Amino acid sequence: MNRKLGESGSALVCAACGANNVIEIELALPDGTEVHFCSCHQCETRWWQRDGKDLGLDAVLDLARKPRG
Ligand SMILES: [Zn+2]
Repeated sequence: MNRKLGESGSALVCAACGANNVIEIELALPDGTEVHFCSCHQCETRWWQRDGKDLGLDAVLDLARKPRG
């Protein structure tokens, strides 16, 4: 699965440096939660989103650890 990003009007802008040189990767956690991993090429800031909202790394790890069911 290889989606083209940045060509569908959903250009991401880095909150840290303002560059739109951001990649977004969609991931599914073990419990089925879909999260987006974003990484800025400009300043190397990385962050996570879930349902369009920022998600802390701790929250991601917590979800990843959560057993199914
Ligand atoms: Zn940046």
